[in-house]
Amino acid sequence: MASHDGLVHYPPAPGALHFGETLIRYLNNHCRQRTLYVHLETRPNSSPHIGNLVTFATGFALAAALKHSCSRNVRVRIIYQDPGPDHHELLTIDGVKYQKGLTGPGDSGLNQTPFRRVIRRLAEFFDVSYDTCSPNFWQHNPEFTDALMECVKYRRFIGTHLSPTTGKLAIRVACPECGLVDKDGVKNGYHPDGRISCDCPQHGMFYINPAVNADVERMELGPPLRHLIRAIICSRDKQASWIMCTGADHAGLYHEELVWRLLDEPEDAPIFFYAPLVVDWSGARLSKTKRVRDGAYQYLCETRREYMVDADMFLRYPGGLEALCREVRGWIDQPYRLFRNYSVEYLERQLRLRGMLHAVH
Ligand SMILES: [Zn+2]
Repeated sequence: MASHDGLVHYPPAPGALHFGETLIRYLNNHCRQRTLYVHLETRPNSSPHIGNLVTFATGFALAAALKHSCSRNVRVRIIYQDPGPDHHELLTIDGVKYQKGLTGPGDSGLNQTPFRRVIRRLAEFFDVSYDTCSPNFWQHNPEFTDALMECVKYRRFIGTHLSPTTGKLAIRVACPECGLVDKDGVKNGYHPDGRISCDCPQHGMFYINPAVNADVERMELGPPLRHLIRAIICSRDKQASWIMCTGADHAGLYHEELVWRLLDEPEDAPIFFYAPLVVDWSGARLSKTKRVRDGAYQYLCETRREYMVDADMFLRYPGGLEALCREVRGWIDQPYRLFRNYSVEYLERQLRLRGMLHAVH
């Protein structure tokens, strides 16, 4: 039995019907500030694969369309996240989850990833400028403290959305004595003078003051709280408009309940733009996190498609990245193609059709 007939369909989707002809004009009209940033985010230690390369290419292609069709002053801004929960030792004491230490904004791993090479080539292909920023970029923003204190003020309401299990704000601070961190901020206290108290099971209470830069540096935020504060900060930016480009796995209930519902002034919020996902045979997006079981994608490796999950290998295929860029640019040029996901099989065919040669070993 043939696995498929090779025909590609674009069933009507509301987004495609609405934005099919007017996507770039719509984005241009709703980004009213003089400068425009297309925001992309990644972990410095992540293993790039064709899925996150597609998200990055989508961001660059979008920026290029706005630059070349609308003469916008646009720049891609790539912000590195902290390395994530897989890198912390976790323990539970008296029912409270703790992690050992914060990740911090260290960037020692950045040069070891192929991301930098990929980003440079994407910028060249699409003729768009870019910059890269450290994980504490948002914490250095002058609006950060105010946005955080706004969340603290409404923490009982916001907490039920951001942390349904605990109802708390995940403001993480390491104990100055032993480095232990209350992962979900369960024992944090909020005081009338603005200070936040944290509790170490071994060394007791300690305080931080969000109005003091050095204390802000000591904080990390759980992802939903970070996403909300980021949206608030972008909403208040009077110099630049922001388009947050991310994979479509963030779309839907997650963003609507954890960001949109909680914004005071949604009309000023950044635009969230979802890149199509690259999915495996079962429809799950490709992922290289440790949460995907060992031996995942063996079937891709056995069928000479390992390059789909290994960007280092992908970059050894002459013309591969350029073929991917041409494919993604086609989605932006014909936006009805943006409102769906693409399988590994489809992408493989398109990369060959668009000029990717066999690998150089
Ligand atoms: Zn301690």
